[in-house]
Amino acid sequence: MRQSLARELSNLIERGRDRQLRLAVTGLSRAGKTAFLTSLVYQLRHAGLEARLDLLPAAREGRLLGAQRVAQQDLGVPRFPFDEAMLALDDSPPRWPEPTRGISELRLHIRYRPQRGGLLGGLGRDSATLTLDLFDYPGEWLLDLPLLDHDYLSWSTGQQTSLSPERRTLASGWLDAVADLDPAAAADEGELARIAQHYAEALRAAREAGFADLQPGRFLLPGDLDGAPVLQFFPLPGLDVDDRQRLETLPEDSVYHTLARRFAYYQQHIVRPFYQEHFRRFDRQIVLVDVLGALNAGPERFEDLSRALATLMQSFDYGKRSLISRLFSPRIDRLAIAATKADHVTPEQHVNLVSLLEALLGEPLKDLRFADIPVKAFSLASIRATRAHEVEHQGKHAPALRGTTQDGEETLVFPGEVPVRLPRSDFWTRQGFAFHAFRPLSREARGDGLPHIRMDAALDWLIGDKLT
Ligand code: GDP
Repeated sequence: MRQSLARELSNLIERGRDRQLRLAVTGLSRAGKTAFLTSLVYQLRHAGLEARLDLLPAAREGRLLGAQRVAQQDLGVPRFPFDEAMLALDDSPPRWPEPTRGISELRLHIRYRPQRGGLLGGLGRDSATLTLDLFDYPGEWLLDLPLLDHDYLSWSTGQQTSLSPERRTLASGWLDAVADLDPAAAADEGELARIAQHYAEALRAAREAGFADLQPGRFLLPGDLDGAPVLQFFPLPGLDVDDRQRLETLPEDSVYHTLARRFAYYQQHIVRPFYQEHFRRFDRQIVLVDVLGALNAGPERFEDLSRALATLMQSFDYGKRSLISRLFSPRIDRLAIAATKADHVTPEQHVNLVSLLEALLGEPLKDLRFADIPVKAFSLASIRATRAHEVEHQGKHAPALRGTTQDGEETLVFPGEVPVRLPRSDFWTRQGFAFHAFRPLSREARGDGLPHIRMDAALDWLIGDKLT
């Protein structure tokens, strides 16, 4: 009798408790999303075996029993290519996994033993299961949120003013092509497609040059929309918001109205659905940032990254009057931000890396704390490719890193110091950075498991409370 009562109660709690968690991973291109998800899935699948996850209490206490991939719910979303990623890492020579280009998903069942004193443990449960839905999507998509606060005219004028001299040079092909386009003329499909092509190329050139604050986001990662007319629009130079009345009276088939319709379509059919169908349903989120890559690229790129992140973080600003709260009802209740590829610098620099990340996200973080969203900053390496060493130089001990370059050469380097604050102009002239790109460790060099730095700390913040 008592036993069946206990079972009843346990079922009730099981249903009432949150047994499912939707965790999303994002970051701009090359921030390290693919590496992060690959490592996350690997570490959870090998928990209780060779994975080292000491900073995750459930793992440290031997309660994490492992994880299995199961069929996902959203059949319309591609599956995260975990097997392909592992094949790349296990190849000889080892390769970094091919980055994902759009949204992808993977569902894990995590088995764990509830804590003895805990709710489930108290009911005599031997093991419990947490369903973890993982999503990976490009941070570039979040750069499109502010676009929802515009109409074509205000967006068009805003884009013009944000073009720095270097961006103008990179966009010269597009600027030439669009120079003679008359907003009042009848739209010529072929011509608009050609100019849009130039615009997308200008955005891509800017991204290649290390810029991140680029809009619209889908132009950079079009996926299956490549070549579709919805992506064939661009801002019209020389427009002024004061021209609104005159522009509104132009014929429906004019260049102006055709571009304005495509812009509105992009807002309604591309940007909004992502927020509505996916973003709104995420419970937890980690935003990955390649801080070291931006430091390496110099002052203009670094500032651009800072602007892009300020825009990107607007999607997590849930203050009552924020754009995201007004348009959607998001429910992310915990956020992590992480500087990735920490294995590019020596361990004593990791504290600085976190400070720099916090400084880079200064304003957005203030807004988040104000909106009462718990957020924590980390530095981590999803897949550690170097080993920390000490070298003796002129009688002194100095930290260094050993790793294999992408060309297959063994090197020993001291990559430089990470500034604690946003670097001032003299920093860039005084101190050079030389962060090398490394090859992942080979299977033999890796030994058991997939080496990482603080993946377990990030996991604890993101899912630890669901494993008690
Ligand atoms: P994504 O575009 O955000 O999916 O970025 P990826 O995960 O493809 O990472 C981009 C590149 O960064 C990889 O090809 C690696 O060269 C590098 N990278 C990512 N994570 C790590 C890491 O933990 N350590 C090191 N050393 N390099 C990394």
